[in-house]
Amino acid sequence: MNRVRQHRHVEPLAPALALLPPRIAEMVRCDVFAGADPVGAGLHRYVEASYGRSYRSTCHVAYEMHQEHLPRGDRAVTLVLPEVPTVAVVVHELGHVLHAALRLEPQPLPVTEYALTSGGLEAFAEAFAAWALPFGHGYGAAKDRLYERDRATVALLDELAVP
Ligand SMILES: [Zn+2]
Repeated sequence: MNRVRQHRHVEPLAPALALLPPRIAEMVRCDVFAGADPVGAGLHRYVEASYGRSYRSTCHVAYEMHQEHLPRGDRAVTLVLPEVPTVAVVVHELGHVLHAALRLEPQPLPVTEYALTSGGLEAFAEAFAAWALPFGHGYGAAKDRLYERDRATVALLDELAVP
C-alpha cells in the first residue's frame, strides 16, 4: 500500500538511501505508507509493539504475511512511517525490507539490546543498521560488536553490496 499523507515523514528516506550501496538500495525498494495510522487504514491488524508501543504510531515494516486479510495482489512489503523517523530508523527499517528479500535468512548475532526482541527478527535489522550507518548515528558500539563477533553477516552484506 503506497500512501504518503505527510511529506516530512518521508524526507529522511533520501538521505537514508544515499547511505546504502546502490545494489542494496535497489533491493530495498518497497511500498511506503507514511503520516497516518496503518491499522486504521487497513494495511494490517497488528497493534501491540514491543516496549508497550503501538504499531499505529511506531515506524515498522509490514511483511506480506502480515496482510493476509488483503487480496494477494494488494499485499506488498511496506515501509510504515506513522511518525517522523530519523535516518537511523529508516536504515533499520530498510534492514527489515532487505531481510524479507533474503527470505528472512540469516539470523545474525544480536548487536544491540533491541536486537533480542521480536523472536530474532530485530537482529538482522539491527546488524544491517550497524553495518550501513556511518559513525554518528548511534550505532557505533553495535558496529564494533558486529565486526568483532559476526564476520559472516558482514561478509554477506559486503557481498550483496558488490554489483
Ligand atoms: Zn525493527
